[in-house]
Amino acid sequence: MRKKTAILLSATLLTMVITTLLPATEPLFSNLTPDQKRSEDILAELVSFESTVEHPAETHRALQAMANRLRQAGFPDNDIQLVNPADDQFGLVVYYRGIAEKRPLLLLAHVDVVTATPDAWSFPPFTLGKQNGYYVGRGTEDNKAGVTQIISNFIRLKQEGWVPKRDLIAAISGDEETAGSVAQWLSGEGRELIDAEYAINSDAGYGEYSDSGERRAFWVQTSEKLYQTYQLTATNEGGHSSVPRPDNAIQDLATATTSLANYRFPIILNDGTRMQLRRAAAMYPKNIARDMLVLAENESDQDAAQNLSVKPAFNAMLRTTCVPTMLSGGHAENALPRDATVTVNCRILPGTPAVAVEKEIARLVSGQNITVKAIYQGLPSEASVLPDAILENIETLVEERWGDVPVIPNMSTGATDGLFYRNAGIPVYGISAIFGKPGDSRAHGLDERIGIQDFHESVAFWYQMLKTLGR
Ligand SMILES: [Zn+2]
Repeated sequence: MRKKTAILLSATLLTMVITTLLPATEPLFSNLTPDQKRSEDILAELVSFESTVEHPAETHRALQAMANRLRQAGFPDNDIQLVNPADDQFGLVVYYRGIAEKRPLLLLAHVDVVTATPDAWSFPPFTLGKQNGYYVGRGTEDNKAGVTQIISNFIRLKQEGWVPKRDLIAAISGDEETAGSVAQWLSGEGRELIDAEYAINSDAGYGEYSDSGERRAFWVQTSEKLYQTYQLTATNEGGHSSVPRPDNAIQDLATATTSLANYRFPIILNDGTRMQLRRAAAMYPKNIARDMLVLAENESDQDAAQNLSVKPAFNAMLRTTCVPTMLSGGHAENALPRDATVTVNCRILPGTPAVAVEKEIARLVSGQNITVKAIYQGLPSEASVLPDAILENIETLVEERWGDVPVIPNMSTGATDGLFYRNAGIPVYGISAIFGKPGDSRAHGLDERIGIQDFHESVAFWYQMLKTLGR
């Protein structure tokens, strides 16, 4: 999933300056604590598996490797379950037993990664390397760091003899990037295996550095937009291009696409996006901050809506969007087109039914000889309300570790496994706790990496978070 990669803090900056003077083989983090060493070993082992959609056996082996580590740490066999909801699709469910005073807490991560072509990378993608203060390798950021946060801390907490007040259930998927069948199965048929009061997803949310390297926000993902794709097709009887008529499939489609481009879906806020506007306002210049605060109080304020909508990121946060992404039409250079098709990808706000969006599109293009058809229907998921008690716990943990950094809910415009669990009525909060600079993420891309210090701090944050939320 999408997250932000890390940059260096001043402390590591110093380390980097020093270590760049040393031979390249010099380890950057040579003084790891035993807990950090275990986390590094786990991350290295995970990266060594080419757990892509082309190699399901590797994904299976990665999950087995984690199961073995837990077994060696004293987790009973009964509490470690490999699930196999579909051919070649595996997941791992692990129970850290508590005294069952409260309902369980679910923890989400995934071991599968997006394909990496070694030739295009500047280092081997399936070997954990270290470079200039980063761990490098496919999956370091998305989402093998998250798997490590769970597995390494389960082992540490077990070694310390800690007993939570509730079961902690880890659900580690092997196909989040593709079919999503593990999360789909666990949240449906396998529901009794993972039934929980709420879930923390390591695969969403992030810490944000400013350009100058200050920690400016701690984002907690509380909702996701619905992904839905439509095809708009104009048809026509066609004919010879030497005798054009006024009706023309390509022209009709162009008119329809223009109608769609000129339309804006209404602004609709939920608890999370309203809190996001309020809490994130301080990060923006005064005029933008003012519009954010105004809109948070009154979502029908036209001026504030207009001003903010100019920025694509705000526009995507405030309303459902539909945009043409692919185009085809015609069959010969010298023939009137018999059909023309545009693919329109929508990202629909939680709470808005997809059918209402389809109706709106049909209304916009009506009278233009166009048919509208859904060609991809996503799974809708409600926004998860962040209760004060959980928010306050997270705020305290963030403050203890990083000082005065605002905790802000956010809505993803893309999808994670979280949507399956939300759809099944389990609130999901995305808390990767990994700091990075916006726009610096290499998840799914070349030379994926994660800041070494940011990685270890996130694992330590998760340790405290599990102890706090498991109380
Ligand atoms: Zn992911």
